[in-house]
Amino acid sequence: MSMFCYQCQETLGNKGCTVNGVCGKKGDVANLQDLLLYSIKGLMIWRKDVPLEVRKKYHQECSQFDEFIVAKLFSTITNTNFSREYFEEAILATLYC
Ligand code: SF4
Repeated sequence: MSMFCYQCQETLGNKGCTVNGVCGKKGDVANLQDLLLYSIKGLMIWRKDVPLEVRKKYHQECSQFDEFIVAKLFSTITNTNFSREYFEEAILATLYC
């Protein structure tokens, strides 16, 4: 699977990891982490632009939203989590938050 990650200072040649991560990350996890971050960005736009009443109507409120976002962001930093299953579930949780 193709890969491109330039998330951290360990990146290959200061340009980007393109085969496997110097940290051990694989391409599928790198792509899922990118997708999770894009999902979180979309969720934040939704929360910013849609009135609270509308979000509640469509059950778009997480009970502990701030903790949810921090945990998901933290999971993407270098060497924290390489579980494909975790990121698949995190993306779905973000889409339905
Ligand atoms: S997080 Fe891992 S794969 Fe990404 S740039 Fe750093 S060393 Fe490379």
